[in-house]
Amino acid sequence: MKSHMPSTSCQNSNAQARAGAICSARVIELLQKYDRPGPRYTSYPPATEFKAMNAGIYLDALERQSQLYGDTEPVSIYIHIPFCSSPCYYCGCNKIITRNHDNVRQYLDHLRKEMALLRLQSSVYRRPVTQLHWGGGTPTFLDDAEVTELMHLTAHYFNLQAGKDRDYSIEVDPRTVTRERIELLRGLGFNRISLGIQDFDQNVQKAINRVQSYDEIVELVGTIRARDFRSLNFDLIYGLPLQTLESIQETLSQVIALSPDRISYYNYAHLPERFSAQRAINSQDLPTPSQRLEILTTIIDALTGAGYLYIGIDHFVKKDDPLALAKAQGKLRRNFQGYSIDKAADLIGLGVSSISTAGNVFAQNEVQLEHYYRALDANQLPVARGVVSNAEDALRREIIQQLSCFRSLDIAGLERDYKINFAEHFRLALPELEQFERDGLIVMHGQQGLTVTTDGTLLLRNICMAFDEYLNRGTPLRPMFSRAI
Ligand code: SF4
Repeated sequence: MKSHMPSTSCQNSNAQARAGAICSARVIELLQKYDRPGPRYTSYPPATEFKAMNAGIYLDALERQSQLYGDTEPVSIYIHIPFCSSPCYYCGCNKIITRNHDNVRQYLDHLRKEMALLRLQSSVYRRPVTQLHWGGGTPTFLDDAEVTELMHLTAHYFNLQAGKDRDYSIEVDPRTVTRERIELLRGLGFNRISLGIQDFDQNVQKAINRVQSYDEIVELVGTIRARDFRSLNFDLIYGLPLQTLESIQETLSQVIALSPDRISYYNYAHLPERFSAQRAINSQDLPTPSQRLEILTTIIDALTGAGYLYIGIDHFVKKDDPLALAKAQGKLRRNFQGYSIDKAADLIGLGVSSISTAGNVFAQNEVQLEHYYRALDANQLPVARGVVSNAEDALRREIIQQLSCFRSLDIAGLERDYKINFAEHFRLALPELEQFERDGLIVMHGQQGLTVTTDGTLLLRNICMAFDEYLNRGTPLRPMFSRAI
């Protein structure tokens, strides 16, 4: 259905000059109208809905999955390294700022214990690990010996793969690596790297306390390319203090010159009441909402003009990237890392605050380091919260996946697969969908489906929110969510 739905651009207004152009004046109006915080939908139900849970529920779910699909069913692993040596002022991650390297020893010992306990209590270790991701914090806070130790530990307790198809990725803070370090990571089996760039403008970098020179990045990219990593991702942020249209244009031309395979361009959510580091940012220095929109449209125009495909919320990829192919083949999925190819349904999260998924169960580890250590010291897996999603969650998750990944909804397919009457089942959402259509954000195709327009792409999260039962249960919108733009 996705392929034969009409593609639309700027509905209800005069057609803009070229495909993909953003109707700025109209969109500003729409953004003001729909400006409300919402989840990024890297999971559904969102992590904000997780409740207290014990590890037994997660272990049972893992066993059910193994029995259902067998030991050859692929699995993903995520390992969280929480340490950073200095705070970036925009940061909303779960991290620990320290210069004391002794912390790492204690953390690695507990990670080993977590892996050993999981292996003891579950057969998941037999399943091939097709995707591995180290995130943080700063994974490269670990020194060479520690990075090597952690990879060896993972290989000891799980079924790591050596095949070319595997996706083993690591988030790299460019300030923490050398050429030799990159070579070591490649030697250990990583084949994807994500560089935390954020912005190339020196004034912006100073305002966010993350200074790194363009020349250093150029050299690093050269080393990564020479070492034959399969993919290079840049993490960038818009809406940062002191960013202007001109500075973003300069950053964009520097980014495009380095030609990363994937670009994640996140919008900065200024929530100083929740993230103390953000209190160091002068809110007067932040771009206004209309400047943010101008910046966003400049980003979309520049990157799509340079041959990148805007695959959905915050993410751009080269047209021959596996994610672009996965999108064309209907295999793209949204998950905790943003977007990925649907290689493994289950995810083992290791380390403080990590989230695991097994079948219909989401399980999150203790978020506080001392609680994480305490559970493991008592020989217990450190699962603290989570949710067992039900059939209704699964239906809504599928809808949010389709909207986020394909900007369309196969209503006929949903009615068939989930045995529902869409209009009846979502009667409470219908007035909102009708309003979206009047505002040119979506086009309804009778009972067959709907497509999201170019304008609607900018408000994709808001469209997803219409199907979020938790938000629509009268739960007040929370300050922890960022806004659409
Ligand atoms: S942005 Fe990354 S490197 Fe900076 S403080 Fe946050 S987790 Fe650490």
